[in-house]
Amino acid sequence: MTYTYDPQNIFARILRGEIPNKTVLETAHSLAFYDISPQAPVHILLIPKGAYVNFDHFAAEASAEELVDFHRAAAQICASAGVAPGVGGAGYRTLSNAGSHGMQEVPHYHLHILAGRVLGPLVL
Ligand code: ADP
Repeated sequence: MTYTYDPQNIFARILRGEIPNKTVLETAHSLAFYDISPQAPVHILLIPKGAYVNFDHFAAEASAEELVDFHRAAAQICASAGVAPGVGGAGYRTLSNAGSHGMQEVPHYHLHILAGRVLGPLVL
C-alpha cells in the first residue's frame, strides 16, 4: 500500500505546535485534545504523533509500541472522563472516518471519542 501524507494538514500543525489545542492527554506516541466543534458533551480527538493518514495506514505501518500506546491512551481517556463502563460510566462511542466515502476531513488518523449523552443508533 502507498499512503501520501500531507504535512500541512491541521493536525500535523497542531503536533508541531503551530496551532493551539486543548490537550486532554499526551503520551509518548499519541496526543488527545478537545474537538473544536463538539458533537456531544464529551468529544475528544485522539491522534498518533506519527504521520499516518487514516486507520488502515496506522494499523498497517505503526509499530507495536505505537499501537499499544494509542489504544491504551483511548481507554485511559474514557476512564478519566468517567464514561467507561469499566469505571461505572454510562459509555461512549469511538469512530474514525476514512477517505471520501467515510467523509474524512483531516488527513491525519484520528479517533473520535464521543460521550456524555445517549448517542442514538448509528443511522446514516
Ligand atoms: P468530519 O469533520 O467529517 O468529522 P473528520 O473525521 O476528519 O471529518 O474529523 C475532523 C474533526 O476535526 C472534526 O470533528 C472537526 O471539528 C475537528 N477539528 C478541525 N479542526 C480542529 C482544531 N483546530 N482543533 C480541534 N478539532 C478540530
